[in-house]
Amino acid sequence: MIEYKGVSTTYEDSFRALDKIDLHVKEGEFVSLVGPSGAGKSTLLRLLTRELIPDEGQVLVDGVNLADLSGGDIPLLRRKIGMIFQDFKLLSNKNAFENVAFALEVCGAPVEDIEADVPKVLGIVGLNTKVKSFPHQMSGGEKQRLAIARALIHRPKIILADEPTGNLDMVNSYDVVKLLLKINELGTTVILATHNDKIVNSIGRRVISMDSGRIVRDQVEEGKYIL
Ligand code: ADP
Repeated sequence: MIEYKGVSTTYEDSFRALDKIDLHVKEGEFVSLVGPSGAGKSTLLRLLTRELIPDEGQVLVDGVNLADLSGGDIPLLRRKIGMIFQDFKLLSNKNAFENVAFALEVCGAPVEDIEADVPKVLGIVGLNTKVKSFPHQMSGGEKQRLAIARALIHRPKIILADEPTGNLDMVNSYDVVKLLLKINELGTTVILATHNDKIVNSIGRRVISMDSGRIVRDQVEEGKYIL
């Protein structure tokens, strides 16, 4: 479903952030992407949303080389891929319902769909009682669950989570990871980039370790992983 073939990325003509990456992620997998800051994790994810195009090699989603997408295809790709970030990226002047609804409104979704779908995803992430709360009235864990609801609203095939627990304490971090595991069980492919070794150890799924733009370890089998 996701394939990187000999992918290299260079920033500002000099710095090679990814160096000949070969990677295949199957539909329905849960992959943890680990490695020190600067290893290339975010760059790897940004290639999947077509924020970046590789200098060498190809990135394919469902067999389509993302470099071949036209401008009009990119929003469709991004609806297929939900993104979650460390800093939530919520709209501070909109409440929980409106933050999720906005993602549908910008795509021209009918009001009836918005009113039916938004409460459903807020229910999935356990925020039924916070529908009218604004981000500043929510805890860090709640804000991240709201960001997950927004990522889910287009029923994406893939969720990319870039350090989603970076601003959370352990209890909330585990809640977010449990939610990502639940979303994965419902059929969505998940790639989780994280520094948090305790979290990775608790997940017990495939772990890809990166360093200096390369994959240095790919532990496919399930089991305890020690960083
Ligand atoms: P990670 O997510 O593992 O911390 P990144 O993919 O963000 O790593 O970064 C990989 C390398 O590329 C780092 O050395 C980083 O400084 C560099 N880098 C990332 N983004 C940019 C950018 N926009 N311009 C220049 N260099 C960048």
